[in-house]
Amino acid sequence: MIRILFYRGKCIGCNGCVEAAPDRWRMSKKDGRCNLIGGTENKGIFKAIVDMNEYEQNIEAAANCPVKIIQVEEV
Ligand code: SF4
Repeated sequence: MIRILFYRGKCIGCNGCVEAAPDRWRMSKKDGRCNLIGGTENKGIFKAIVDMNEYEQNIEAAANCPVKIIQVEEV
C-alpha cells in the first residue's frame, strides 16, 4: 500500500497532479484547488491509503506539483 499526503491549502490549481493520476485527483469547481479522491482530512492535511498499483502515477503527480504539496510513500 502507499500513503498519499496532500497539503491542500497551498494548492494553486495547476492540474499537474490530475494529468498524472486522473483516478486519484480531480479539480474542484468550488475553489479551483484539486481534491484527493478518497482522502480524509485532519487539520488541513488530506490522507489516502491506496493500492500499490497507483504508486507510479502518484509519484508522477507529486513530481508534477510545482508547490511540492503531495507526498507519496510506501506503507
Ligand atoms: S499539482 Fe499541486 S498545485 Fe497543481 S493542482 Fe495538483 S496539488 Fe495543486
